[in-house]
Amino acid sequence: MANYTHLLLAIDLTEDAKRVGERAQALAAAFGAQVSVLHVIEPLSLAYGGDIPMDLSSVQDQIHEQAKGQLQEFSAALAIPEERQHLVFGRPEAEIHRIAEETGSDLIVVGSHGRHGLALLLGSTANSVLHGARCDVLAVRVGEVED
Ligand code: AMP
Repeated sequence: MANYTHLLLAIDLTEDAKRVGERAQALAAAFGAQVSVLHVIEPLSLAYGGDIPMDLSSVQDQIHEQAKGQLQEFSAALAIPEERQHLVFGRPEAEIHRIAEETGSDLIVVGSHGRHGLALLLGSTANSVLHGARCDVLAVRVGEVED
């Protein structure tokens, strides 16, 4: 079977992202593949259903600036060039699928927490990414290991 040629690394910019990034980088080195990195900012209006009676645009701008800095720092540590860094607004799973296609990625790499109970029922980003992906998806186990 052919090697992977382009990995899309989706990160939430939490502490877990480092581990997911290291795994993606090791895989890319083994396959001689390129890596693109993506962070999706969820618009506040989506998160709060547009229920907040105030203008959130300056808060949103600050969130964007902060995320941009964090994404640049993260990418520098993995030597991912600027043209392969993607920062977009939207719903994570939908944007991960869209950017995977746009970049011609053949493997999406995400983190996945072991989940129990209600969290398991509600699902996770990794789960949503898997459903509807047009390429392979690798879920890297992150967070506390739960039995
Ligand atoms: P979660 O299900 O929210 O715990 O997230 C699991 C994984 O989904 C993370 O480790 C990331 O790989 C990916 N992910 C979650 N949120 C985002 C986001 N806003 N942008 C990009 N990837 C994300």
